Amino acid sequence: MDFQLDEDQTAFRDVLREFVDKEVVPVAREWEHAGRYPTEIVQGMKDMGLFGITVPEEYGGLDLDPVSFALVFEEIARGWMGIAGILGSHSLACRMIAMRGTEEQKRRYLPDLATGARRTGIGLTEPDAGTDLQGIRTTARLDGNSYVVNGTKMWITNARYADPLPVLVKTDPTATPAHKGMSVLLVDADTPGFTVTKDIPKLGYKGTESCEVVLDNARVPRENLLGGVEGHGMQHVLSALEWGRVNIAARSVGIAQRAYDEAVAYSQQRKAFGSPISDFQAIQLKLGTMATNVQAARLMAYYAADAVRRGRADGPTGMAKIFCSEVALETSIDAMKVHGGYGYSTEYEVERLYRDAILMSIGEGTNDVLRTVVAKSVIRGETVVG
Ligand SMILES: Cc1cc2nc3c(=O)[nH]c(=O)nc-3n(C[C@H](O)[C@H](O)[C@H](O)COP(=O)(O)OP(=O)(O)OC[C@H]3O[C@@H](n4cnc5c(N)ncnc54)[C@H](O)[C@@H]3O)c2cc1C
Repeated sequence: MDFQLDEDQTAFRDVLREFVDKEVVPVAREWEHAGRYPTEIVQGMKDMGLFGITVPEEYGGLDLDPVSFALVFEEIARGWMGIAGILGSHSLACRMIAMRGTEEQKRRYLPDLATGARRTGIGLTEPDAGTDLQGIRTTARLDGNSYVVNGTKMWITNARYADPLPVLVKTDPTATPAHKGMSVLLVDADTPGFTVTKDIPKLGYKGTESCEVVLDNARVPRENLLGGVEGHGMQHVLSALEWGRVNIAARSVGIAQRAYDEAVAYSQQRKAFGSPISDFQAIQLKLGTMATNVQAARLMAYYAADAVRRGRADGPTGMAKIFCSEVALETSIDAMKVHGGYGYSTEYEVERLYRDAILMSIGEGTNDVLRTVVAKSVIRGETVVG
């Protein structure tokens, strides 16, 4: 058992850390409040090859191990979680195409996705179906050599930049169980009938777009059916899920670490009753709890990432996603309390961390739903605790 990152991972983390401290931290608060798209930071991530972290080397990617993958999201979220969101959806879609696409699809898309010349995302959620993906209503009817797609997708990260956007559809809406009639189509951005119709106003995660997307008789070529065979859409989507949970767990650790750092620094500089507030036991109780939780969350995230490297990891990734996202929320709230009134001010970082933390309990399966997933895995004997 070794609790240290290896030499390559440590060097990689240091490079990421420097990038985040130089390029992300100084602008995050202002740009997030303004809802400004972080074009320059995206360019920096392209230059570092980060758009290729889940793309196999033969298609020009970095093909990172899952722990290094986690480090990317932890470090970036420490600076600004929204940026990690831009990279997260892209990386999961790349992984899905790499694992499930036909050779032709991989050659057509992956090299440009690896450099960031093309970007992507994932279109699953609809106005009336999120957790219950088998309840989606978007249909794709084969007509000659193309699918005619109709439906609406909600909350789509990267919608304005995705080309292609993988979209979950029903190619056979009558199938039972429903998943047998579901497929993923790679929808190119210039497809007539494919429109990004609105940006959804939201509490946090500003700057990064979350959009409604409408497909109105959109004609998608048959060769854009992911994997070339209908009826495997849910499996395609689920194939990237464990990496998705590691991604959210790691982002949560980044948010929690930053909240902790901000709280420690503030407590040493803020004075009350003639001493730094870090001298007061009530503040120390918070700092001690935060330090303990952040470190526990980090170990859980890395453990889950390592479990993914070893094989199927529903249990460890689900538990890490739940625990880390809850630590992020708790830690950001405590950091706000340590800041007193200033914690509520938009001139400080901690209120953004709080707004970012809440989202971590929703994406990649809500925490409540994941609890039931973990429980079922335990009951089936697939996840062993102890
Ligand atoms: C900022 C943001 C970005 C997003 N980005 C994307 C994206 O890029 N692509 C994409 O496809 N989606 C995206 N989503 C959507 C996200 O994945 C969904 O919001 C999430 O899956 C939950 O679905 P829902 O909102 O429809 O909630 P619902 O499924 O309606 O759930 C509502 C409540 O019911 C509970 N619930 C539902 N079913 C069960 C059950 N069986 N047992 C117990 N409780 C249950 C849930 O836990 C929740 O508390 C994004 C969302 C946000 C907020």
